[in-house]
Amino acid sequence: MSEPPGAAHLDLLKSQVASLEELLEVQGQTVIEQSQRLENTLRELQKEREALRESEERTRSIIETALDAVIGIDVDGIIIEWNPQAEQILGWAREEALGRRVEDLIIPPRLRQDQLRDLQSYLSAGRGSMLKQRVEMTAVHRDGREFPIEISLCPVGSGRKKIFSAFLRDITERKQAEEQLARARDEAVTASRLKSEFLATMSHEVRTPMNGVIGMTELLLTTGLTPEQKEYAETIRGSAEALLNILNDILDFSKIEAGKLVLEPIPFDLRQVVEETAELLAPRARQKGLELIVRYAPEAPWRLIGDPGRIRQVLTNLTGNAIKFTETGHVLIDVECERQTEATAQMRLSVEDTGIGIAEDKFDHVFDKFTQADASTTRKYGGTGLGLAISKRLAELMEGSIGVKSRLGEGTTFWFSIPLPRDRQAPAPPPPEVKRAGLRVLI
Ligand code: ADP
Repeated sequence: MSEPPGAAHLDLLKSQVASLEELLEVQGQTVIEQSQRLENTLRELQKEREALRESEERTRSIIETALDAVIGIDVDGIIIEWNPQAEQILGWAREEALGRRVEDLIIPPRLRQDQLRDLQSYLSAGRGSMLKQRVEMTAVHRDGREFPIEISLCPVGSGRKKIFSAFLRDITERKQAEEQLARARDEAVTASRLKSEFLATMSHEVRTPMNGVIGMTELLLTTGLTPEQKEYAETIRGSAEALLNILNDILDFSKIEAGKLVLEPIPFDLRQVVEETAELLAPRARQKGLELIVRYAPEAPWRLIGDPGRIRQVLTNLTGNAIKFTETGHVLIDVECERQTEATAQMRLSVEDTGIGIAEDKFDHVFDKFTQADASTTRKYGGTGLGLAISKRLAELMEGSIGVKSRLGEGTTFWFSIPLPRDRQAPAPPPPEVKRAGLRVLI
């Protein structure tokens, strides 16, 4: 039998109730706090999901509006993404394509083995011939039509989660344009060659009567002419010679352009070639009161193997120009050896003058065909603008190079440098003989 609750007992109960209430309040508080935290977390998750959805939408719209076909492929080569452009280029709808093997859908059966090898080595190893480059391949449309494509593959992610994005574009039109361009270029090259051949033949044909005119005028000059007739005949001879020079230039240039000019290398004496060229041009220099100086570096070899005719032609052209464009001072032909081995000597022939000079921005142009440094040149000095173009081609044909340095009003130096095999068979030549009667020399 229980005793009636005493005051003490009642107090105890009250205090227990109070602490229970306190406990409940604390726990309630905790529950509220926790639920608030939960709510916050949920809100954040929601936001993240929203952001993810938006980003996915953005990516999708980029993929869907891309001009390239974008195809997602997993490591096993299964298609997991196929955008509208892929549908259009390859003819398969997205639903048909997803889950299929990529090679079955885009590579023609006859080429599958080869192209697949490349593709697979790339897919499995993440490297290979297609890594991060655009590769041209042949693709097949759903209707069986084959066409050229350009494809590039990019890996995304790693391990089993790795996928590949293939960007593929139909390049049929570009290929056609390229082919047309190549055809047009071939036709232009053929036309240019035919033109050069025609020119070469023509100049040859025209040269024969020109030689007749010159020869006959020479004969005419030996007959008893009145001073007036002699003057006319000399003018005819001068004009005919000038015309013949132009014809020779055109003939040479056409021959080079038509690829018909072949070098005829023989053992020769370069020193002799240089001396003969100077001798030939000395009267012209003397007429203008210019000093024509030849300097052949004593240590430079002179028994060499090359085409002396063509070397003389370049040197004559450079020296002729130097005399033509110089009014006072000198023209110096300088020959030196830039470097040599037992077998070959790199010979540099330069022609320096104290003439009108060339503006720096014209340096490259003077080597172009039919180009003169100054429009007034033709009027004042004549010429065709072919000489340097021919010299450049000849220097290149001899595996050498040609160049110029100059200052307007001060003078010009043209040089050309060619490798020439040394003539080891030749007996040691006698020391250079000085027989320059009447020629002014610089020592
Ligand atoms: P051409 O002498 O028949 O005009 P070139 O091809 O030999 O043709 O020369 C092209 C141009 O280069 C010349 O017209 C001239 O303007 C310039 N040129 C060539 N050599 C010299 C030189 N030594 N000094 C100044 N100008 C030169």
